[in-house]
Amino acid sequence: MKPSLTCYGGVGEIGGNKFLLEDRGTKVFLDFGTGFADGIEFYDGSIKPRDVNGAGDLFEFGLLPQIPGLYSERALQNTSLRHTSPEVDAVVLSHYHWDHMGRIAHVDPRIPVYCGETTELIHRASSESSGSPLDDHELRTFRTGMKFRVEQMEFTPVHVDHSIPGAYGFIIQTSEGTVAYTGDFRFHGRAGSLTDDFVMEARTSAPDLLLTEGTRVNATDPQKANPSETSVFEETRRMVSDSRNLVLSTFRGNDVDRINTFYRAARTCDRRLVVSMRTALLLERLRSDRKLRVPRVGKDVGVYLRRKKSGRLDDRDYYPWERPFIKHGISAAEVRKSQGKLFLHLVVWNFPELVDIKPDRGGTYIHSATEAFNEEGEREDTVVRNWIDHLGFTYHQIHASGHAPMEEVGRLVAAIGPKTVVPIHTEHPELFREFREGAPRRLVIPRKDAPLPIMS
Ligand SMILES: [Zn+2]
Repeated sequence: MKPSLTCYGGVGEIGGNKFLLEDRGTKVFLDFGTGFADGIEFYDGSIKPRDVNGAGDLFEFGLLPQIPGLYSERALQNTSLRHTSPEVDAVVLSHYHWDHMGRIAHVDPRIPVYCGETTELIHRASSESSGSPLDDHELRTFRTGMKFRVEQMEFTPVHVDHSIPGAYGFIIQTSEGTVAYTGDFRFHGRAGSLTDDFVMEARTSAPDLLLTEGTRVNATDPQKANPSETSVFEETRRMVSDSRNLVLSTFRGNDVDRINTFYRAARTCDRRLVVSMRTALLLERLRSDRKLRVPRVGKDVGVYLRRKKSGRLDDRDYYPWERPFIKHGISAAEVRKSQGKLFLHLVVWNFPELVDIKPDRGGTYIHSATEAFNEEGEREDTVVRNWIDHLGFTYHQIHASGHAPMEEVGRLVAAIGPKTVVPIHTEHPELFREFREGAPRRLVIPRKDAPLPIMS
């Protein structure tokens, strides 16, 4: 059997990456994530697959591939697939985003997960606060250039820049042919040059097959202007310096670039950034990665203290992992008192906190996330806008994407120059023919569950 690649997710969709590489009996999954639209016809915010039924409620609707020797006993307890000893050798994870690792929770814990050192730190922080899909697995960590072997295959991880630290692409040497996998990437973040390193390394390896994301490969990219992280900083600084009242923002709590950007914008304007306990825990755990230079909890950033259980800010109301942050805690009353001096990060499900804070009218709200791209997102956006109107705040959209725009994906493909390109993590694989640099030498649009040869 010649080495092959089978895409079990990430096909014609953004997210859900699950790519099986097979080479003479060696089987490795590149990522094992949840699709954003997985089961949207059957499940929504109120109807969810039951954890207690493992993979059963997902198999029912074809939301996970039924592969023998892949899942845990618990995942298969109530399914027709028999639990056997592992037939898959490893899962190699590109980065800690749900659409790349969310389904690892169902994978047999005897199958090791390879991930970057920073990913392990992010996993540990999540694990302490809310649990992580990697919880039961042995993690084998790597850094850029640290080659590792899984039986027949040799992996070279190379960092890329993305909206979470510790993101990697891979160059994989099989017994016949070389594969390059980009993971998720951009060039316009603070560490954009990391992606250039990947491109150089991939180009040198002259891959037979390039598996590349194309999130923003789209005829009508809503972010055509492609703002960079630096422009997010400039715009935010302007906004904050013009504001006399509370500045409130919603952004992904594990986007460390954004945390740094807002921390610097706040500090420049003599304000203090206040984050959630969960973000504070992540920042603490990421301190050991010196390169990230995250702000220090307590010294640089404050922590928002939500009322819980008794409603009286009693220490006993908080989980053990939350207690060390209480001393840096800023309550709703304190936010109200110092509103002109703070920059508050609040995730949308904590918006009811604003009822306690009662900020003065005339504050500033910064929505720092992707604009809604589906019905569910639009509905949430309407609700957020209603809150902002109710508070008498002004609404601003300031964001830089975690993904490269179409033009730059085209440039990456041309620079690497692979024999075959397989577009994944995109809704428009056919548009890979329309790159300004011209169509790739050979474009193969993958079909779900159908193996492709590595060598054409
Ligand atoms: Zn991602």
